[in-house]
Amino acid sequence: MRTLIKGGTVLSSTGAVVADVLVSDERIAALSAPGIAWEADKVIDAAGKYVLPGGIDAHTHMEMPFGGTSSHDTFATGTTAAAWGGTTTIIDFAVQVKGTTLQSTLDKWHSKADGNCAIDYAFHMIVSDVNDTSLKEMRTCIDAGVNSFKMFMAYPGVFYATDGEILRAMQRAADTGGLVMMHAENGIAIDELVAQALAAGKTDPVQHGLTRPAELEGEATSRAITLAKVTGSPLYIVHLSAAEALAAVANARDTGQNVFAETCPQYLYLSIEDLARPDFEGAKYVASPPLRPREHQASLWRGLRTNDLSVVSTDHCPFCFNEQKELGRDDFSKIPNGIPGVEHRMDLLHQGVVAGEISLARWVEITSTTPARMFGLYPRKGVIAPGSDADIVVYDPTATQTLSAATHHMNVDYSAYEGLAITGKVDTVLSRGRVVVADNAFHGATGHGRFLTRDLCQYLT
Ligand SMILES: [Zn+2]
Repeated sequence: MRTLIKGGTVLSSTGAVVADVLVSDERIAALSAPGIAWEADKVIDAAGKYVLPGGIDAHTHMEMPFGGTSSHDTFATGTTAAAWGGTTTIIDFAVQVKGTTLQSTLDKWHSKADGNCAIDYAFHMIVSDVNDTSLKEMRTCIDAGVNSFKMFMAYPGVFYATDGEILRAMQRAADTGGLVMMHAENGIAIDELVAQALAAGKTDPVQHGLTRPAELEGEATSRAITLAKVTGSPLYIVHLSAAEALAAVANARDTGQNVFAETCPQYLYLSIEDLARPDFEGAKYVASPPLRPREHQASLWRGLRTNDLSVVSTDHCPFCFNEQKELGRDDFSKIPNGIPGVEHRMDLLHQGVVAGEISLARWVEITSTTPARMFGLYPRKGVIAPGSDADIVVYDPTATQTLSAATHHMNVDYSAYEGLAITGKVDTVLSRGRVVVADNAFHGATGHGRFLTRDLCQYLT
């Protein structure tokens, strides 16, 4: 089966060129100047449109247990929504429950995802129980293609790891080539502020933001960077939201440390004003770290331009407003943490191109090429080149759309971006050569997506 994508502007992390893309079965066979009469079974006219490598969302939580409930997208619904939005690979977090092994955790995540994904997928491992066995098992995970290990400086009593535990895991990562990912917020101090707010009768969703100040993200980020320096471990800060944390990352990078960071669309577009919406509406915007005052947004866009922020992921973790967010109506600390977003990342970052915040090449780099290299998937993913998987998005930069829960495909009853007008829209999506989205219809299938065993981070020498 040969498919020709004809006459589009092919984007990469370094620029744009008008070219034809020939797909043979699951892979890209050729990239050529227009005019060569390739024989193909199917021709997709991409004139006037962008042709870019499929998005890679390196931070999702499908079917994730949290606070007595579970994130509402299954691997089937979540990966289908991702495809609709031009994302053709997700990396989801397998979550170790204290007292269980990393191997049993991997097995559990495979049993949820295998045979149920519409696009390709891979895993990170959340290490919440640091002990001799789990440290040893980090090697087992790496051999199974799961070589990034997330730890938490937040959520005492649940995922929280002490500085000593983090140090031990970082030493192990430095020895094995693994990458430590960090949720950097000072959870011990935050829990005190939360208790004080509740004792004072302050129960509204906005308290979630007020009790998790940006300084405590900055402090934890600096501490994680220091521990990484002492151990010689690389470090990847997840969902960076605050200017203070960005300054710590920039400083570490300036001094040559292997420190990387991602931010998320919600921190670029939403703010603590959304958390303060009346009638419990603010609960829709509860995630950790919290949405920040609006002035942080300019710093984050700048960080994306300077590469102190090198990846944009979603931290997609959908909980329905009715029934799930409701659990915290009388106590903001019981609101399930998470915002849905896997479907809208490519569009929201394209909006950054439209607004002049980032270039077209940078759009591709932070949404696809860098995540591929960061997590050992390049050049199989993240680029349109001969031999690469044919994960391709044909994107119409002039189409317009309005984001809404009425039209999105995520299995959640609200949109954090309800009513937001966007310029640009996914036209056609190929996943390993198969057209999965075209003509405003889904043509894919759950079970098409394959598990990807990943190489080590490709930014490390
Ligand atoms: Zn997350």
